[in-house]
Amino acid sequence: MSDGPTQAPFALCLSHDVDRVRQTFQPLYYALTERNFSHLRSLLAPGNSYWQFDDIMALEDDLGVRSSFYFLDEKWLFGDKPPWEWLHVDAWKRYTGRYDVDSPAVADVMRRLDDGGWEVGLHGSYDSYTEPDRLEREKARIEAVLDHPVSGTRQHYLNLDVPETWRHHRRIGLAYDASLGSRDAVGFQHGYEPFRPFGDDFVVFPLTAMEVALVGDRGVEAAWVECERLLDEAESNGAVMTVLWHQRYFSEREFPGYRGLYRRLIQAALERGAWVGPLGEYYRAFVDDGRAGSASDREPGADPPRHGPG
Ligand SMILES: [Zn+2]
Repeated sequence: MSDGPTQAPFALCLSHDVDRVRQTFQPLYYALTERNFSHLRSLLAPGNSYWQFDDIMALEDDLGVRSSFYFLDEKWLFGDKPPWEWLHVDAWKRYTGRYDVDSPAVADVMRRLDDGGWEVGLHGSYDSYTEPDRLEREKARIEAVLDHPVSGTRQHYLNLDVPETWRHHRRIGLAYDASLGSRDAVGFQHGYEPFRPFGDDFVVFPLTAMEVALVGDRGVEAAWVECERLLDEAESNGAVMTVLWHQRYFSEREFPGYRGLYRRLIQAALERGAWVGPLGEYYRAFVDDGRAGSASDREPGADPPRHGPG
């Protein structure tokens, strides 16, 4: 990996959204709504299968790469939401698994990631894509833990109101957004490169693939075939491919095969000569190079999906 991020034949940017750091009743929710009862196994098992941070660090360290982790400072159902929402099952799923970014264990893992060369960014809470003041407070809490500014964000559920959400992000000092993508589809439908929606140094990284969209109903082996197809396309087009693996999907007990798929994808990208790393690092090289993607060739508002996954 001697080439810089933008000199390599293509790039694979790695990211993890941290929606929850422990299971509550989400496995029960998925069992009932998706009729997928395999999730219930995790309720019966000892330990916290969502605490995958050290395993991910070890896996990536072993491959010589780093990644971006976006931490979520979600609203609290009983403190921040009105009583008429308390009984909605979706509200329970969304708001009751929250964690505190400045709780000792979470703050400690954020600082260890930061010290170890990983990127720590902001996973904007469910409503924050239209609530810039809220997002600014969330950003400040993470920065207080790290004791330095963060540069990147991805909105929870990929919520976006284009281009207004990006304007908010830029106004509160975020350098890039990684929310443009889909929970159902994988591919380069939003282009092969990050782009500058306003023609300045605020940059958008389209999401190429999320783990659940890759595996979905097709299973892990078929997902690997899809990964190879995406790598072929990335290599042919000098693309920046961005992938999202939620940290809880590294739990082999609950999500068998996802961890191996992630490792295999990174290994294959490295074998093809790709630069592999965090979005923030690619961002800096992209801006230093004065790379493309101006507002003149990419108008904001190219019908991105408003709601994606978690
Ligand atoms: Zn999320």
